[in-house]
Amino acid sequence: MKTWIRVATFVAFIGLAASASAAVRKEIRIPDIAGFRTLKCDFHMHTVFSDGNVWPTVRVDEAWREGLDAIAITDHIEYQPHKKDIPTNFARSYEIALPRAKELNVLLIRACELTHDTPPGHYNALFVKDIAALDIKDFLEQMKAANAQGAFVFWNHPGWKQKADESYWFDIHKTLVDGKLIQGIEPFNGDQYYKDAHTWAGQYNLTLVGNSDEHAPFDPPTENNANHRTMTLVFAKDRSLDGVHEALKSRRTAVWALNRLAGKEEFLKPLFEASVEFCPVFHRSGETAYLEVRNKSDVPFELGRKGTKGLTLEPNSTTILHATVNKETGKAELNYEVKNLLIEPGKGLPITVTIAAP
Ligand SMILES: [Zn+2]
Ligand SMILES: [Zn+2]
Repeated sequence: MKTWIRVATFVAFIGLAASASAAVRKEIRIPDIAGFRTLKCDFHMHTVFSDGNVWPTVRVDEAWREGLDAIAITDHIEYQPHKKDIPTNFARSYEIALPRAKELNVLLIRACELTHDTPPGHYNALFVKDIAALDIKDFLEQMKAANAQGAFVFWNHPGWKQKADESYWFDIHKTLVDGKLIQGIEPFNGDQYYKDAHTWAGQYNLTLVGNSDEHAPFDPPTENNANHRTMTLVFAKDRSLDGVHEALKSRRTAVWALNRLAGKEEFLKPLFEASVEFCPVFHRSGETAYLEVRNKSDVPFELGRKGTKGLTLEPNSTTILHATVNKETGKAELNYEVKNLLIEPGKGLPITVTIAAP
């Protein structure tokens, strides 16, 4: 009898454990904008099937826990340091992760990293149909084959291993841009920032992406002090693989890396407006008006204004703004730069706060 009860308890425990095995999902609070869903995505990570040190399903569990909508496992085609233990099988990390992704409602993109010394460097091909068919020695032939499969291809960590004073733009990159063989670029890779690559995104109209490029088990609090992984925000018509693909091809993205958001003004402006509420003035004293500013998102916003010491709107917090208003009218128009919302390298998003007459 005693043994039976123990077995029953054990079975019940297993059942419970299986139903809750992915622990708790922490949702990322970054709002939808302009009729689009804001999907949180990481398009660059590795597993034991190349030079990473986690099993593919772990990547899916991590993504779910951290509130991501879509991921791409991008194991290297040309670099497999574990191949003595884990035989080369290009599609295998995707195949192993897919059932888990379906169970957790994480969108999993079939992808790989095309890996060459600089130049040309490394490239991720997303939405590929047949990874093994891209095991091609000739770089340009490989890029053409990836594109022929309908892939979205971006240039990874462009300045990686380059000396600070050396340009990392080579003739081959012009060939890739002119031939439309790459559609995106990754100026933000983990905690790294490649400023020139950010400039080229605007100059050559490439989709801006930022990703973790994680090789180890993921642990955001120890990764950096921003407590989130570097990710691409995708403004998609719907939360689906097709939705992500269409948005990437249409260049509707922004990047969240450390405390910064980078992207076009047409996306960062509505994102800021949907995140931050400037409430009506609740008190006036002389030429000072007092109002609450509510930041409903997970992103801090660093507001700068000439002649003032600036103001940081902490995530999910309310700040009281002391605004100097016109003595006669009681009105004000305050022009700020949101310094950590980069509409281009070194240039923050301009915003205007209007204080109405009492
Ligand atoms: Zn790489
Ligand atoms: Zn990589």
